[in-house]
Amino acid sequence: MRICVVGAGLSGLVAADLLNSAEHDVILLEARNRVGGRVWTQKLPSGSIIERGAEYIDLEQHALLFTLARLGLSLAPAGTSYTAREPRGGIGTTIKEMSEAVDVVKTLIAKEPLRLLNQSAAELLSDADISSGAREAIASRVQITTAYPVDKVHAYALIHIGFGTSEGLRVAGGNQSVALRLAERLGDERVLLSHPVTRIRWSQNGVTLESGQDSFSCKACIITVPASVISKIHFDPELPRWKEEAFRNVAYGHAAKLYIPLTRVPPPSSVHSVPDHYWTWTAKDESGNVQPVVSAFAGSAQSLERLEVKNGPKKWVENLRKLRPDLELDSENVLLSTWDDEPWVEAAYSARPLNLPLSYDEILSRPIGPLHFAGEHTAGQHSSTMDGAVRSGIRAAGEIMITP
Ligand SMILES: Cc1cc2nc3c(=O)[nH]c(=O)nc-3n(C[C@H](O)[C@H](O)[C@H](O)COP(=O)(O)OP(=O)(O)OC[C@H]3O[C@@H](n4cnc5c(N)ncnc54)[C@H](O)[C@@H]3O)c2cc1C
Repeated sequence: MRICVVGAGLSGLVAADLLNSAEHDVILLEARNRVGGRVWTQKLPSGSIIERGAEYIDLEQHALLFTLARLGLSLAPAGTSYTAREPRGGIGTTIKEMSEAVDVVKTLIAKEPLRLLNQSAAELLSDADISSGAREAIASRVQITTAYPVDKVHAYALIHIGFGTSEGLRVAGGNQSVALRLAERLGDERVLLSHPVTRIRWSQNGVTLESGQDSFSCKACIITVPASVISKIHFDPELPRWKEEAFRNVAYGHAAKLYIPLTRVPPPSSVHSVPDHYWTWTAKDESGNVQPVVSAFAGSAQSLERLEVKNGPKKWVENLRKLRPDLELDSENVLLSTWDDEPWVEAAYSARPLNLPLSYDEILSRPIGPLHFAGEHTAGQHSSTMDGAVRSGIRAAGEIMITP
């Protein structure tokens, strides 16, 4: 049975690979000229390997870890913690004080769990009896991680804030190896790059997808396109109103990353700019050597505006130079990675705002006849991560496998 998959990010690749292994005739249509979507590894002229998109993996990301093992890939420890980031600037606090403050917040949640449903992260933080320095830094941290305003994001975001000292993890050789290995298993004839799907005609009997002059008929199709850009596809007949409305209401966070080569190799480090809502790290590669590059991640539209990311890296580089006087920057060879201007996503990843109806998780993933839906935004509590993307791909492939 021929199945088409739209989008060669992790969700689409995993779904296509599972269906291919189950001997379905799979065609994967990808708009970009590369696979991986928001997973995109690049080698700098200095030889450092950087992640322009998704970077860190934690041990709770079971579906992703299972996929890595299946593909024979391994994890490389970064030599520095993803979670314990030294806070600098703002009112002033320490990792210890922040960690104790998060314990206070979690005790408050344990006593009154319904706060999680009714409050934004900022509201819950303001009710907690913690120092103003810790409150400011935790709020900044939530805003960075969710890439969404702390006064609008669900208080659930606080549950995931930790300060563990275990090393951050990335795929040895770069996260994009996951996408490349999956694409390799499918073969070039099944993965069609530079094939943006513009129209999907569907009925109970099957689906026809159009991309430029080409059209592809199939029995069923999995659409993994981010909700932020799904309106670029014309559905004929239109999707039911409940589905369109759910897609329209997916909230997206905004983020950018910056990489500055270093003229002297530093020790591994994690440093958080509290007032400017970004964090920076120097880390080891798979060989165990620290790479001569400092990476930075800024989360939320407000932060990108303050760092004037739209005008290029200049302001952020100046800001980082003040935050990290310990580093010797080679500011001639800076790379800025932005996603808001990427036409196939126009944002970073989905967010879970306060007032998001719980039914949306089910509605976003619910199939409609031969149309199935995957992508991190359909992964409920696992959304916004590589793991969520993988889980959604497994789920959508499973839906098709059990269809008589
Ligand atoms: C800056 C940044 C940092 C991140 N950091 C982390 C992290 O540290 N850890 C983590 O777990 N996650 C992180 N993420 C999130 C993670 O990257 C995503 O959740 C995950 O990769 C999404 O996979 P996906 O398959 O759902 O979507 P995508 O990767 O976006 O794949 C969808 C694919 O569909 C294609 N497409 C779109 N429209 C069409 C069309 N009309 N026709 C054909 N193809 C189309 C796109 O080109 C894309 O390749 C980060 C993301 C960003 C942007």
